Amino acid sequence: MKFSKIFLPTLKDAPSDAEVVSHRLMVRAGLIRKVASGIYNYLPLGLRVIRKVENIVREEMNKAGAQEVSMPMVVPSELWQESGRWEVYGKELLRIKDRHERDFCLGPTHEEIITDMVRGEVRSYRQLPLNLYQIQTKFRDEIRPRFGLMRGREFIMKDAYSFHATEEDADKEYQNMYDTYCRIFERCGLKFRAVEAETGAIGGRFSHEFMVLADTGEDAVASCNKCNYAANVERAEIKSQGSGVRGQGSEKDKPLEKVSTPGMKTVEEVSGFLKTAPERLIKTLIYNSDKGIIAALVRGDHEMNEAKLKRTLDASWLNLADEEAVRKATNAPSGFAGPVGLKTKIIADYSIQTIINGITGANEADAHFINVNLDRDFKVGTFGDLRMVVADDLCLRCADGKLEIFRGIEVGHVFKLGTKYSEAMNATFLNEKGEEKSMIMGCYGIGIGRTAAASIEQNHDEKGIIWPMPLAPFHAHLIPLNVNDKAIMTTAEAVYKNLINAGLDVFMDDRDERAGTKFNDADLIGIPIRITVGSKALKESSVEIKMRKAADVSLIKIDDVKKKVLEIVSSGR
Ligand code: ATP
Ligand code: MG
Repeated sequence: MKFSKIFLPTLKDAPSDAEVVSHRLMVRAGLIRKVASGIYNYLPLGLRVIRKVENIVREEMNKAGAQEVSMPMVVPSELWQESGRWEVYGKELLRIKDRHERDFCLGPTHEEIITDMVRGEVRSYRQLPLNLYQIQTKFRDEIRPRFGLMRGREFIMKDAYSFHATEEDADKEYQNMYDTYCRIFERCGLKFRAVEAETGAIGGRFSHEFMVLADTGEDAVASCNKCNYAANVERAEIKSQGSGVRGQGSEKDKPLEKVSTPGMKTVEEVSGFLKTAPERLIKTLIYNSDKGIIAALVRGDHEMNEAKLKRTLDASWLNLADEEAVRKATNAPSGFAGPVGLKTKIIADYSIQTIINGITGANEADAHFINVNLDRDFKVGTFGDLRMVVADDLCLRCADGKLEIFRGIEVGHVFKLGTKYSEAMNATFLNEKGEEKSMIMGCYGIGIGRTAAASIEQNHDEKGIIWPMPLAPFHAHLIPLNVNDKAIMTTAEAVYKNLINAGLDVFMDDRDERAGTKFNDADLIGIPIRITVGSKALKESSVEIKMRKAADVSLIKIDDVKKKVLEIVSSGR
C-alpha cells in the first residue's frame, strides 16, 4: 500500500476529549474517527490492526477446538425475558422496537441467543461438549463511554460459550480457555496478568479477568509479592488481622467521654480537630438493604467495599442511606453516626477489633465519643472482611506475602456460568443413564478493540505508536527520501515489490514531502521496521534500516533486505 493511495488522515493534535494516550494516538495516526459518543469508524490502518488481533484470536480459538459461528446483533426480547435479564439488565441494554411494535435489543453479550441455538439442536450427551464463538459487534449503552476503543458503546468482542454434560468437563474447558487466553495475549505481545475476578455466588476460582498492566487502566488489581494470588481489588480478600489482637498493645482502656466537634463530619476533619490518627476513628456507614437498615463499621483510614459487605450480609441489594434515613436510624445528621447506643444491626470489618480507645460519632449533632472500646461500649453482630485492600495488606493465600496494587485494563474475561442460563431457558440433554439434565456452561470474552488500544498504552513514546510486530498494520515502512530522484524511486519500487512478493505487508511513503515530515509520520504510525532509500546509501548499493523501538540506524545491502526483513518478522519482535 502506498501513502498516496491510502485513506490515512494523520493529525498534529488530538481531539480535546482524548484523555488517554491510546485514544490520542489512534485518532492522530488515522486509525479511528468518532461518529458519536462511544461509536467509531475504523479507517484502513485501524481496521488492519483490528483484523490482526482478530486473526490471532481466531487461530488460537480454532486450535483450542472452538468453532466459529455468527449470531445476530439484533435480538428479540423474548429470549431475554426467558433468562430474566430483560428486566434486570438496566440502561446499558439498548431496547428498540420494530415496525410491528415488537421489542428487540442490540446484543451486549449473547448467552441467551447461543443457549437458544444449542437447546434447539442438542438432545444427547453424545453431542457435547461444544464450544462456539463469534467475533462480532456488540452494543452497550455505557454510562461514560471514553478512552476511544477502550470503553466504547459499539465495540467488537470475541465471545465464546461452551456447553458440557459434566462439571469436570466444564472445568477442563475453563482451563483450556484460560491457557488459550494466555497464548493469545502473549502472541499479541502484551504484558498481562490473569486475576481472580469472582468469589462467593459462583464459587472460588471460576472467573478470571485478563489484565493488561497499564497506569491508565480503569481497574485496580491486588497481587501478592510472594505467591501467584492476584485479584481485582473489588474482589481481593484480606487476611483477618483482627481476632485476638486487641489488648496486645500497652495502651489501657480509658473511660468513655463525649467531646464537642462542631461541624466536624469527615474522618479528616475529626482526626485533624482532635489531633489524632485516622486509624483511631471508627467510620460508621448507614445502609438501606433488603436485610433492613445496617450500620457498617470500618477503620477511619480504610474504605468500605460494598461488594464484600453485600456478600457478607447475603443481601441482594444495598444502598447508602440518605440524610433522612440516617437521621431516623441515629437521631443525628449524617457525619455523626457511631455504634454506641445504636439500635440497628451492626456489622464491622475485622480491623475494628484492633482499635483501642477509638473515636466515633456520638449520634448527636456536633459531638463525638472518644475512648470507645469494643464490647464495653458497643457490640458487633457480625465481623467480616469488608474493606478495600490497600498496598501491604497480608495475602490470604500464603504465609508471608503482602499485596501490591497495580492498575490494569481488562482485555478478557473467562467465566464458569454453571447452569444459570440452561436452567432458566430449559437447555437440557439426556445423560448416559437417559436422565434429563441441564447443560453446564462457560463463557469467555475478549475485547478486540480494547486489546489493540491496550497494546498502544504499553507500546508508545512521545512521537507515537510502537506496534509489536504481531499487531502492526504493516510489517515494513519504506521511505524514498526524494520521489523526484529516479535512482531512488527505482530502488524503492524494486524493494517494495520484492518484499510484497515475499508475502510481507509493506507501506511506502511515496509522497513528495520533506524527509522530516515522512519520518514524523512514520514514528506516529509506528510500523516496526523502517527502510529508508536515499542517495548516500544508494552509492554503496544499500538502504537504511531502523526499528521503530530502537534508536540505531544501520546500512544494509539492497540484496539482503528481503532476508533481513523476513528474519525480523518471523522472530515476531
Ligand atoms: P468492564 O468491567 O470493563 O465494563 P465487562 O466486565 O462488562 O467490562 P465483559 O462482559 O466481561 O466486560 O466483556 C468481555 C470483554 O469485552 C471485556 O473483557 C472487555 O475486553 C470487552 N469490553 C467490555 N465492555 C467494553 C466496552 N464498553 N468497550 C470495549 N470493550 C469492552
Ligand atoms: Mg468482565
